[in-house]
Amino acid sequence: MIPAARTLPGRYRAAMDPLPYLAGYPADVQMRARELRDAGRLGDYLARRYPDPHGVRNDRQLYDYVQTLKDRHLRQSTPLHKAIYDGKLQVLKHALGTHTTVSRVQGGRLKASREIRIASVFRDAPAAFLETIVVHELAHLKESDHNRAFYNLCTHMAPDYHQLEFDLRLYLMHREAQPASPT
Ligand SMILES: [Zn+2]
Repeated sequence: MIPAARTLPGRYRAAMDPLPYLAGYPADVQMRARELRDAGRLGDYLARRYPDPHGVRNDRQLYDYVQTLKDRHLRQSTPLHKAIYDGKLQVLKHALGTHTTVSRVQGGRLKASREIRIASVFRDAPAAFLETIVVHELAHLKESDHNRAFYNLCTHMAPDYHQLEFDLRLYLMHREAQPASPT
């Protein structure tokens, strides 16, 4: 960080210190996130709010987890044939997960089914953030754009969705700022 940046008006600081994960949020929200980060309080904030880990360790468990949420909220949507953790997904902006439609021949008919890939950072993320990203990708089964209908689906599945997505972005931002763990 450049110490002098602290004294610059917010918009100049924002230009010098962009927050890619929060690019779509209003400037004052980004400024508060920067303050939290610069004060070294982001980790505490997240740990206090999201203390619970999850037990979804492998692709089999992930599929069951996604399918359970889908059965509860989106039973009528396109069948899901695959849900996996993907270590190659670049976690930036909306590439938190991906969803693709796969056309398969089944019983002599071409049948659409869907595949959901979740970035593998979520394997070790708090339970709430795995739920957030799965809700996001499930909503994409019905709406490909991030429009009002899409977010209505998200809040139907997770009423606190907007706060969760914001905090998830703070989590990714915080995680990226940590020194890489030894391999
Ligand atoms: Zn999306």
